[in-house]
Amino acid sequence: MGLIRLLIIAALIYVVWRVLKNLLAAPRQAEAPPPKRPRQELMRKCAQCGVHVPDHEAFTHNGKHFCSQEHQRVYLEHHDQ
Ligand SMILES: [Zn+2]
Repeated sequence: MGLIRLLIIAALIYVVWRVLKNLLAAPRQAEAPPPKRPRQELMRKCAQCGVHVPDHEAFTHNGKHFCSQEHQRVYLEHHDQ
């Protein structure tokens, strides 16, 4: 009986230790990813030249995306009106 008790206590300590380790590790894992920019960022195709630019760098106008303000201007000159 003494040995079984010891094993149960050891198992409980192990489980508690695992749970505590997970609780301590979880916040760090949650904090780690945000600083990195997600690799799969949405890419926008320039309506003027067709080059793909990251969403945050793209210029958007009426649902069209452009690699630069210059291409937005050129495109609108030829396609608006
Ligand atoms: Zn362009």
